[in-house]
Amino acid sequence: APVIVWFRKDLRTDDHAALAAAAETGFPVIALYIREPDGAGTGPLGAAQAWWLHHSLASLGKTLRALGTPLILRSGAAADVLDTLIEETGAGSVHWNRRHDPAGIAIDTDIKAALKARGITARSFAGQLLHDPARLQTGEKKPYRVYTPFWKALEREGEPHEPIDAPESLRSFSGVLHSERLDDWALLPARPDWATAFKDIWTPGQAAARERLDDFVDGAIEGYRTNRDRPAIDATSMLSPHLAMGEISPARIWHATRGLKMPTEDVIHFRKELAWREFCYHLHFHFPQLSDRNWNDRFDAFPWEASGRNFALWTRGRTGYPIVDAGMRQLWQHGWMHNRVRMITASFLIKHLMIDWRRGEKWFRDTLVDADAASNAANWQWVAGSGADASPFFRIFNPILQGEKFDPEGTYVRTFVPELEKLDAKWIHKPFDAPESALSKAGVELGRTYPKPMVDHGKARERALAAYKSLKDG
Ligand code: FAD
Repeated sequence: APVIVWFRKDLRTDDHAALAAAAETGFPVIALYIREPDGAGTGPLGAAQAWWLHHSLASLGKTLRALGTPLILRSGAAADVLDTLIEETGAGSVHWNRRHDPAGIAIDTDIKAALKARGITARSFAGQLLHDPARLQTGEKKPYRVYTPFWKALEREGEPHEPIDAPESLRSFSGVLHSERLDDWALLPARPDWATAFKDIWTPGQAAARERLDDFVDGAIEGYRTNRDRPAIDATSMLSPHLAMGEISPARIWHATRGLKMPTEDVIHFRKELAWREFCYHLHFHFPQLSDRNWNDRFDAFPWEASGRNFALWTRGRTGYPIVDAGMRQLWQHGWMHNRVRMITASFLIKHLMIDWRRGEKWFRDTLVDADAASNAANWQWVAGSGADASPFFRIFNPILQGEKFDPEGTYVRTFVPELEKLDAKWIHKPFDAPESALSKAGVELGRTYPKPMVDHGKARERALAAYKSLKDG
């Protein structure tokens, strides 16, 4: 009987255990993607990622068709869609790769039980992570809360599984199956099309993911450890959106970094970042509250500011701090932001503006092409100081010094804040301290061509520390 392969955030054919096992049965394979209602699984799809999903589904559809079977698109609650499709096709089993977010697991567990009750086999497979998040445990059989011992445990697990090659062909179902039209899902922005610059940077789909990986291991991985903090250099893999949609598996990435002839610190450092992703998933799996509640509940009493205006200035990249503004504009234009700058902008929102990290997390979720429920929330809580193994709250990033250290020539700022393009490197991270002559030479008029700082760094720092102290003392 036909096998249904239910694709979720694993839009690839390479190293796809569920698909490979379906192909091996020799039965017809029905490839299915379900547009689940908002709120199911990992929550509402952000607008930037919806753009990505559209192109990724189109790409997967083409790949599957070339292998012999179309990708069927349907909308609705997963259980209902599967029921209908089983009715229509007489399918005897459903395969999928496991998801690890608590809401998704709950849905899948129910579906598995319901299918079993009907005599349909449900088989779930690993592959979205290097190692099963439930397997790694401390000596006391508890989940990890601290990264370094987690990393050591991951190392002890040894190499992840050997990636499985994509099937060479798939038997198609003989009948005609209705598929909804991708265009009708209206995943792309209509008017205005704010995603015009996305396509200059990104090509969704597994082929492009593989190309990025190959380019990275042939090039930028050498020097990764030192260059990865420099936002003006293309020093990181930029694989995050491909990983978020599962167009490439972490095991495939891990194995591609085996046996490279280069300083091993670079490879280890890169693998340690992949392990941060695993750690975020591990936390989210064991502590579902991570996504919207302070991990450290002492932060529940934090005196957050409700300001809508300040939040809007931050989202638009009009804070008056060039490194913050460059980051927020990169996010808007490209749907992605360099990791160092994510930390700086998040810290600015939380500590300089004293705005609840959850509002920032939500904005990122809507604007990042790599939005990921586990990584996004865990990192926001890390910056806020409210998370597991978090950076202490009192360590407040100085946006001027961060800019000078990590973007010394101001190249990154000049790219995204063109109104400061001609400003001398000496002032690029603090135009508000520049003498009038330097500003006028560069055609900058503070308050007109570029905003004055919305808060004073020193005062904002004192205010945040006082709020934190009240929390500790209270
Ligand atoms: P590389 O440096 O090439 O790293 C390789 C891979 O390792 C990444 O693709 C990613 O999967 C993983 N990785 C690297 N750093 C981290 C990290 N700190 N946490 C978790 N995984 C990591 N990453 C997301 O994938 N989705 C998010 O929604 C997200 N939100 C973030 C929010 C904040 C406030 C911060 C500070 C970080 C966030 N990150 C998020 C983590 C990180 O910024 C991105 O994964 C990284 O910038 C992606 O670029 P890259 O693929 O070139 O990374």
